Amino acid sequence: MAPTVPPPLGEFELIAHFFTRASAQRALVRAGIGDDCALLDFGDATWAITSDMLLAGRHFFADDDAEAIGHKALAVNLSDLAAAGAAPRCFLLALALPAADEAWLTAFARGLFGLADAFGCELIGGDTTRAPTTLAASAEPVAGPLTICITALGDVPRALARRRSGAQVGDDLWLSGAVGDAALALAHRLGKVNGVAAADVQSINLRLQRPVPRVALGLALRGLAGAAIDISDGLLADLAHLLQRSGVAAQVRWEDVPRSPVLQRQPVPIQQRCALAGGDDYELLFTVPCGRREDVLGASRTTGVAVNRIGTITQGKGLAVLDGDGRPVETSLRGFDHFAQ
Ligand code: ADP
Ligand code: MG
Repeated sequence: MAPTVPPPLGEFELIAHFFTRASAQRALVRAGIGDDCALLDFGDATWAITSDMLLAGRHFFADDDAEAIGHKALAVNLSDLAAAGAAPRCFLLALALPAADEAWLTAFARGLFGLADAFGCELIGGDTTRAPTTLAASAEPVAGPLTICITALGDVPRALARRRSGAQVGDDLWLSGAVGDAALALAHRLGKVNGVAAADVQSINLRLQRPVPRVALGLALRGLAGAAIDISDGLLADLAHLLQRSGVAAQVRWEDVPRSPVLQRQPVPIQQRCALAGGDDYELLFTVPCGRREDVLGASRTTGVAVNRIGTITQGKGLAVLDGDGRPVETSLRGFDHFAQ
């Protein structure tokens, strides 16, 4: 018999296989691995904690604007707090720097604290080290990569903390803002798409480099959204995580998936690839009972964040995306997995 070769481990199988264990502290840990934030219950309050790492060459280009890198490093963490309905309070910053470049650090700190101050989120500690220098046999020593890891903490009244697991059959599926621009910006930068007008490049680059975490909307949806997740790996991939955690299925209407005018100028297959599987959107995907549509629209008005109803939670497993004629849209599109690409 031929030896069986184990399939390569994806990011999520790897986490499930090596790092997911039964919680020993049930009274304290309401949610652990597998949600946007770990949720810790202390009396009437729940603390939401999340950690995200950004690496040069993996999450951003080493020569990207340092101010934007500082902004994004915190934004992606605040986005996870928003999903949980938590108010940002403080964060820890761990840095591995290839060099102590004063101009770079000044700009990085400006971006970081610009966002931190906007949300009253205070830096309370961290760690700083020089990134290792690798000596390739024949080449110049190469320092790096620049690595930024932020752990952010927020709080939410215990009864209002939100998880990925609260979706109910019959709920509406809502999405904030618009999706796909960040993926289009990346594809444009890598020369993988043509026809993005010069005048449009700046707006999509902003979506990629300076995502706005939907913190105010996350707070306004307390007690309204039963389940939520932020879109970091692609709409369908993150929806699949929410559905799996909730034990339900969903039907998504492609025509209702909000896309910017810039993305809508692209051919439909590119729109679908970017909006459904692109990632780096940092929009909130959430479920609300269909009787509360007016309340969701009210939350959208008070926070100034657009929301769209893109589908329905159904019984069973899996998800279907339907076009305007009710025909299924190709959904084998994958979201981002660090070990699959
Ligand atoms: P998000 O996109 O919301 O930041 P991820 O997709 O990065 O979440 O991670 C999925 C889940 O796995 C999260 O609950 C995260 O905390 C957890 N996780 C990721 N890496 C590890 C690890 N090395 N050890 C333990 N838990 C992890
Ligand atoms: Mg998340």
